[in-house]
Amino acid sequence: MQQIGHFIGGEHVAGSSGRTHPVYNPTLGEQTKEVALASVEEMDRAVANAQEAFPAWAATSPMHRARVMFRYKDLIEKHMDELAELLSSEHGKTVPDARGSVQRGLEVVEFACGIPHLLKGEFSDSVATGMDLYSMRQPLGVVAGITPFNFPAMVPMWMYSIAIACGNTFILKPSEKDPSVPMRLAELMMEAGAPAGVMNVVNGDKVSVDAILDDPRIQAVSFVGSTPIAKYIYSRSAEQGKRCQAMGGAKNHMIVMPDADMEMASDALIGSAYGSAGERCMAISVAVPVGDEAADKLLEKLIPKVENLKVGPSTDPDAHFGPLVTAEHLAKVKSYVDLGIEEGADLLIDGREFRMQGYENGYFMGGCLFDNVTEDMRIYKEEIFGPVLSVVRAKDFDEATRLPSDHEFGNGVSIFTHNGDAARDFARKVQVGMVGVNVPIPVPLSFHTFGGWKNSAFGDTNQHGPEGVKFYTKIKTVTSRWPGGVQIGPDFTIPTIKS
Ligand code: NAD
Repeated sequence: MQQIGHFIGGEHVAGSSGRTHPVYNPTLGEQTKEVALASVEEMDRAVANAQEAFPAWAATSPMHRARVMFRYKDLIEKHMDELAELLSSEHGKTVPDARGSVQRGLEVVEFACGIPHLLKGEFSDSVATGMDLYSMRQPLGVVAGITPFNFPAMVPMWMYSIAIACGNTFILKPSEKDPSVPMRLAELMMEAGAPAGVMNVVNGDKVSVDAILDDPRIQAVSFVGSTPIAKYIYSRSAEQGKRCQAMGGAKNHMIVMPDADMEMASDALIGSAYGSAGERCMAISVAVPVGDEAADKLLEKLIPKVENLKVGPSTDPDAHFGPLVTAEHLAKVKSYVDLGIEEGADLLIDGREFRMQGYENGYFMGGCLFDNVTEDMRIYKEEIFGPVLSVVRAKDFDEATRLPSDHEFGNGVSIFTHNGDAARDFARKVQVGMVGVNVPIPVPLSFHTFGGWKNSAFGDTNQHGPEGVKFYTKIKTVTSRWPGGVQIGPDFTIPTIKS
C-alpha cells in the first residue's frame, strides 16, 4: 500500500512516529494509501528547517519572490489534470469540480504574483523639520496553516501562496483524509524555485496541531475547519501570543423572494446545495422562500431537479456529484436525515438508500430535500455537510433577513430577487460575512477577502486579498530626521508638530 510521509526541508521523509491514518478512495470505498501522523519531534524538525530557511528567504527581493510565484502558476497550470485527478480520487468530488477548486486556489497564486505592489508601504515627506515618516511590511517568520478535507488544494493555497510571497516560511498541516495533493503542491513550489525549507508539509492529527500551537518559533497560525476546532485553535494560539485566523463551519441560507425567477433560483439552489455532495463551506443548505406561494412555486421547480440529480463515481465527468469523503461522514449525514424526520420536518426526497451500481462499497448517497423545517430543529441549527437541503418557509422579508442573522454561523448568504431595493436592504442588514445577490455561492475572488462572521470565523483578519497580506506581515513605522544643518534644541515635552 502506498505510504505518504512528510515533505520537510525540500525532501520527502518517511514518517517515524509509528502512527498512521488510512486514506480512502471514496468512490471504491476502499483504503488505498496510508498517511503518516507526525510526532512532536517530527514537527520540531520541520519548524527547525523552516526557521533556518527564513532569513535568506526574507532577504530576497519581492520581485524575486514574484517570479517564483509566476513559475509556480505555470507549473500548476501544466499539472492541472494530474492535481484534479489526484484530489478527486481521495476526496470524491468529480474531476471537473476538483479542477475548479484548484483553479480557485491558483487565483490566489496569481494575486500573490503582485506581491511587490502589495508590500509597498506608505511615506509621508517632511512631517517636521527634516523629518520623514514611512512604514514597511515585514514577514513574520515561520507561519503555519492547518486545513480541512473539503478543499485540499484551494484552502492551503489561500494561505501559503501569500505567506511565502510575503517572505515567510511555511508549515502546512493538511487534512489526514486527503493529503496527496498538498504534498504535490509543495514539490511544485520547490520546482518553481523556492529554496528547501520554505514550504514544508507535515501530515498529522491533533498531536502535530498541538505541536504547532505550542511552538514559540511559529509566529502565526491560519486555520480552516469545523467550528469547535477553530475555537480551540484560536484560543490556544491566543494563549501563546500567536497571531491567528481561524475559519469555522457554516449554514448558508438562500432567500428566495416572491418576485424571483424561480427557474433561475432553483438552478442556483441545485448546484450550490448538492455540488461536491454538499461538502463545501459555502454550500447553500437552507432555502428560505418568502411566503407560501413562493415556497410552492420554488418547490414545483426544485423537486424534479433534485429527483434527476446524477450521482456518479468521481471519475464520471457528467456526474453532478460523487461520493462523500468517508464511510463515517456518510453515516453522520444519513443520521441527520433520520433526525430531521424525528423532529417533524417533511422529507420530500430521500436519498439515503441510493446505491451506485458497480460501486456498491462507495460512500454514496442521493440528494435529500426537507420542507417545513423550523428554527428549533437540530437539522436547521447544525452543519450537516452533505447533500441535504432544508426549506424553511419565511412569512415575510423581515423574517427572511432575521433567520440568517440570528443563526450562530455567518459564513455566506444569498438573496434571489428582481427588486433592487430589497436586495440592497438585505445586503446591508444581514449579519453574515459574504453576501450574494442572485449569486448562489458568493465566494469572493482572490483580490478581495474571504471570511465569515460569528461562529464561522475567529480572529480579525480574513483569508487572502489585502487582508491576507496584512495577516502574514507586521508593519514597522520609521520616523527619521536628517535636519540638514538646522539646529534642533532639547525639548522635554512630548514631541508635537508646531504649526
Ligand atoms: P475538521 O475541523 O475536522 O479538521 C480541520 C483540521 O483540523 C484538519 O487538519 C484536522 O486534522 C484538524 N483537527 C481535527 N480535529 C482536531 C483536534 N481535535 N485538534 C486539533 N486539530 C484537529 O474539519 P474537516 O472535517 O476537515 O472540514 C470540514 C469543516 O471545515 C466544515 O465544518 C466546513 O464548514 C469547514 N470549512 C470552513 C471553511 C471556511 O472558510 N469557513 C472552508 C472550508 C471548510
